[in-house]
Formats: sequence, structure tokens, C-alpha cells
Amino acid sequence: MSSKPDLLTVARLAPFLMEPLQRAFTVHDRLHEQDPAAFERIAPRIRAICGSGESKVGAELMARLPALEIVSIMGVGYDGVDVTAAKARGVMVAHTPEVLNDDVADLALALMLNIARRIPQAERHVRDGQWPAGPMPLASKMSGARLGLVGMGRIGQAIALRALAFGMPIAYTARSAKPGLPYAFHATPQALAAASDFLVVITPGGAATRKLIDAGVLRALGPNGYLINVARGSVVDEAALIEALKQGTIAGAALDVFENEPNVPAALRALDNVVLVPHIGSATTQTRHAMAARAFDNLQAHFAGQPLPSAVPECR
Ligand code: NAP
Repeated sequence: MSSKPDLLTVARLAPFLMEPLQRAFTVHDRLHEQDPAAFERIAPRIRAICGSGESKVGAELMARLPALEIVSIMGVGYDGVDVTAAKARGVMVAHTPEVLNDDVADLALALMLNIARRIPQAERHVRDGQWPAGPMPLASKMSGARLGLVGMGRIGQAIALRALAFGMPIAYTARSAKPGLPYAFHATPQALAAASDFLVVITPGGAATRKLIDAGVLRALGPNGYLINVARGSVVDEAALIEALKQGTIAGAALDVFENEPNVPAALRALDNVVLVPHIGSATTQTRHAMAARAFDNLQAHFAGQPLPSAVPECR
């Protein structure tokens, strides 16, 4: 009989996380999805869950795991975890903030440049042999344009630092103003959009931010404005966005996240004024290793009776 705690994975985790997990735990790999009968047999023993930022850990799953003590998410966003239900049961929830700030901020700037300068279209222009037939249409300048950040947390601040190097005036909205930061605060996304050329969304997902970016915000952003979403697909009303892009209500959008990943509506994929990437905000080798190490450290600290390196704020 093994003395290792039983752990359930709820995502396809990278080998560099699975290997340490398998050394320290008896790992049941997504058994709830693959073999419901086997899951029922081991459910009473499960003391930990490990998943990714996209994982769903609802009240129903937790209710089937009477010995559950901790949910460790490899990601900073934990909107898929029912933290209220976890807290009610005394289950700790941990995530991996900070270590991915650079990568997500880098991607936000890359998306801003890609949509404004039409880099994917320019690349296709050369690759498809269209250059001899004539030049590309002119693009939009990013340096000096006004940046609006919806969310001014860890990643929002990392984006702002990078944008300063592009000479961009910076404004933001958040739940509250940050008097310590030298950027203009707007009380609503709509007011911020009206004062922005690039509107970058970097809030958490979940009920509180659902469709925060709606048709009204897009109208306020206007026909020369670009929307960049590196937060969660749920924060943007995708149907309203598609309509705004088709009608020229906004100039373009660059998106890392979508409402129903990995499915991206054909109507969005058919548009030319978008740049679409498959949720790669933190997807570098260096950062994913750092996230895996933190997700593992949170679990190890819990079972060693030590404080967690990064419990979510609700569980601190
Ligand atoms: P954070 O430090 O907690 O910052 C979140 C910011 O959003 C804060 O400024 C917060 O306002 C603001 N906010 C929260 N709820 C809001 C609301 N209802 N209305 C307006 N603003 C609201 O989080 P972070 O580390 O920067 O990460 C932010 C999010 O990025 C994550 O939760 C995740 O969803 C997303 N993310 C995406 C990727 C990717 O691969 N694309 C990777 C990592 C993270 P206050 O400051 O006033 O509290």
C-alpha cells in the first residue's frame, strides 16, 4: 500500500509537471473523464487536484471527493474553480501568479504590433508572391498611440511598462484606482475605450467580468480603435465583437482567448481585420517550467504542513 497522497489531474499536464507529480503522489490521470467506474472507486481517496488555468473544478466534482484538501492550478487565472464551494469545504486553492507576467505582457505587445502593422497579412503578401504586383496598403502607427488597459494588476502593469518604451500615453480601468501609479484612471471600460486607440483586456475571467467588453464599449473604441484580449474569452461579448469587426465599428482585434476554446467561430476566422492565436499567453518553455514548479511547490508545501507559496487571495 503506497503512503503517497492520491492526486487527480483534471487537465492534460506537461511531462515536466507529471513526472514530479508521479514521484510524490499516486496520480490518477483525468480518471473522472476516461473511466467513470474506476473514478468512483478511487474518489474517496483523492486528497489533491492538479489542473491548468482552463480546468473546470466545480462544486459537483468536489462534492464527489470527500477527502479533498487542495486544488493546485498551473496558471494565474482560476475562474474555472468554484472557490466559494472549495472554501465552504475548507479546500485550499493555489495558483501561479507573477512567473508568467513577462510572457503575457510580451504577447500583448506582439499582438498590438501585429494588428496595427498588419504583420500576418504582410507576411502572407510576400509568401503568396503578391509583392511584385504591388505594395501592401498602409498600416497604423502604434508608437505614441493611446493605450487603455482594462485591468491594472500584475500583468496590466507589466504591459504598461513595455508600452512606455513605445511612447504611449497610458490609462486604465480596474475595480479601484491605483493612486501609486502614474496612469489616468477611468471608472468604466466605456469611458476608457473612448479615450483609447488600443484597448487591452487583462482582467480575470468569471461571473464578475462576463461580457464586460460589450457593443457599447466597442462603439466607444471607434473605427480607428483596436481591441486586444489576453484575459479570458468570457470577458468579451464575442458576437458583438464579430459584428463590430464586420461593420467597421472598430478597426481590428487581436485575440489570444475565445469564448468557447478551442473552437473559434468561422465568422471570426473569415475576417481580415483580426489576428488570432491559440491561447499562448504563457506558452514558452521557460515560463511553463516555472509555472509547473510553482504548481508542484504549492502541493508539496500543503502536504508538508507549510504555508502555500501562492494560495489564491480568497484562501489566504
Ligand atoms: P491581477 O493581478 O489579479 O489583476 C487583475 C486586474 O483586473 C486588477 O487590476 C483588477 O482590479 C482588475 N479587475 C478584476 N475584476 C474586475 C472587474 N470586474 N472590472 C474591472 N477590472 C477588474 O491578475 P493578473 O495576474 O494580472 O492576471 C490577470 C488575468 O489574466 C488572469 O486572471 C487570467 O485570466 C489572464 N491571463 C491570461 C493568460 C493567457 O494565456 N492569455 C495568461 C495569464 C493570465 P483591482 O486592481 O482594482 O482589483
